[in-house]
Amino acid sequence: MIDRRSVLTASAGLALAGAAARPASAAAPAIQASGGSPDIVVVGAGAFGGWTALELRERGFKVLSIDQYGPANPRAASAGETRSIRSGYGAAGMYSAWAVKALKLWNARQAEFGRTLVYPNDRIELADRWLPGLVAQRKIFDDLKLPYEILKQPELRVRYPQMNFDDVDFAFIEKTSAAVIKAREAMIVVSEVFQKKGGEFRIARAMAGPAAGRRMTAVTLNNGDAVGAATFVFACGPWSPKVFPKIMAPKVRVTRSEYFYWGVPPGDDRFSWPRQPAWHDHISGGYGFGSLERGLKYSPASMGGVTQDPDTAERLPTPLLMKIGTDYVGRRFPAMRDAPILETRACNMESAADDDFIIDRHPDFDNVWIASGGGGHGFKHGPLIGEYVADRIMGRPTFDPAADKHFQLTAHADQKAVGSAE
Ligand SMILES: Cc1cc2nc3c(=O)[nH]c(=O)nc-3n(C[C@H](O)[C@H](O)[C@H](O)COP(=O)(O)OP(=O)(O)OC[C@H]3O[C@@H](n4cnc5c(N)ncnc54)[C@H](O)[C@@H]3O)c2cc1C
Repeated sequence: MIDRRSVLTASAGLALAGAAARPASAAAPAIQASGGSPDIVVVGAGAFGGWTALELRERGFKVLSIDQYGPANPRAASAGETRSIRSGYGAAGMYSAWAVKALKLWNARQAEFGRTLVYPNDRIELADRWLPGLVAQRKIFDDLKLPYEILKQPELRVRYPQMNFDDVDFAFIEKTSAAVIKAREAMIVVSEVFQKKGGEFRIARAMAGPAAGRRMTAVTLNNGDAVGAATFVFACGPWSPKVFPKIMAPKVRVTRSEYFYWGVPPGDDRFSWPRQPAWHDHISGGYGFGSLERGLKYSPASMGGVTQDPDTAERLPTPLLMKIGTDYVGRRFPAMRDAPILETRACNMESAADDDFIIDRHPDFDNVWIASGGGGHGFKHGPLIGEYVADRIMGRPTFDPAADKHFQLTAHADQKAVGSAE
C-alpha cells in the first residue's frame, strides 16, 4: 500500500482527536465510507484541492478528485506558468513561517516526482524608504533566522547592472527562501501522481447535494449523478461564491489580475533565471520574475481589482495595463525598452479579508470542509495546505494551532479590500 500513514492509524485516533478539536456538541463524523463510495470527495483540483487530494490518498483514504475543467485549466487561479515562493510577507509572519516550511516540501516533492519544478533565486524588494511592512519583515527574518541582505543603490547597480535603480534607495534581498515554481506543470504532476497512487479523478461540476441532518450525503454532478462519500472538501478557489453563495459570497472577492511576458534580447541571459532575480517593486508597484522560457514576467499593480466571473470572463489583456507594463519594463530594464510582449495572462484571484485563507468546516455540515481564500499568494503553500487540511479533517493537531482559529470562516470580516498577487 502506498500510504505514508495507514488508514488504521488514522481511524483509530479519530474519535478522540476529532472530539477534542470540535465543540462538544458536534458528533464525530466518520471519515471512511462503506461500500464502493469514496471516503472523501475533493471538489477542485487547483493548488488547494489537488494537494489535499494527494495527501489524503497518501494517508490511505479512497479519494475522488473532481474538477469541472481539469487540473491547471486556464480559468483556474493555479494555472499560470509560474508562481513565486517567497518568505517576505511584510508583517504577516505566520505566512513567512508557512512559506519556509512549504519550500522544504516543494523541494522534497520535486525530488520524489523526478521533475524540476522549483527554481531557487534571490528576491529583491525595491524601496525608497523603510515602509512599516519592511521594518516588520526584517524582524521576522531575524526571528526565523532567514538570510537576507539590505543593499543600497550603489551596491545594487553593481550587483544587477541590467536594472535601473535611479528611484531606489535600497533593496531587501531574500537569499534562500525564495524561488519560482512551474505552477501549471506542478498541478498536472500532482494530479498524475495522485492517480498513480490510486486516487480517482473525474471531470464534472459538483455542487452541494442532499443532506441528512448535519451530514451532506452526496454531491450532485452536472449530469445529475449523485456521488456519495463520508467527507467532502470544497477547494473551489474563485468559484467558491458560486458553490456556497450564502457563506462564501460575503467573505471573498473574485478579481482579475494580469501579467505579461516580454521577450528578452537574443543570446542575452541577463533578464532570465537565474541571473535575473524575482523582484517586488514597492515604489512603482507590481512584481516580476526573470524569464523561465517564456520571457521576463511583470504584473503591474492590480489598480483596484475588477470583479469577474471565472466561467464567462474573456481572458484578453487590458490595453492600459499592457502600456503601464511596457513603460515600466522599459524604465526598470533599459535594455528591454523595445522588447515585444510575447504572451499575456488574465487570471482570477479569490481574496478574503487581509488575504487570509479560509480553512474550516462548513457551518451547516459536520462532514464538509472548505479550503479557500488563496488570494494572490496561496499557490506556494499548496503542499503544506494539503497536509494541514488532511490533519484538520482527521482531527489531528496541526503544525500551527494558531492558524486553525485564524482560518475560521467567522474570523473573516466581510470582504471589501482587494489583495495583491505573488
Ligand atoms: C495572477 C495571479 C498571480 C499569482 N501569483 C502567485 C504567486 O506568485 N505565488 C503564490 O503563492 N500565489 C500566487 N497567486 C495565488 C495562487 O495562484 C492562488 O491562491 C491559488 O492558485 C489558488 O488555488 P485554488 O486551488 O484555491 O484555486 P484554483 O486554482 O482556481 O482551483 C479551483 C479549481 O476548482 C475547480 N472548481 C471550482 N468549482 C467547481 C465545481 N463546482 N465543481 C468542480 N470543480 C470546480 C475549478 O475548475 C478549479 O480548477 C496568484 C494568483 C493570481 C491570480
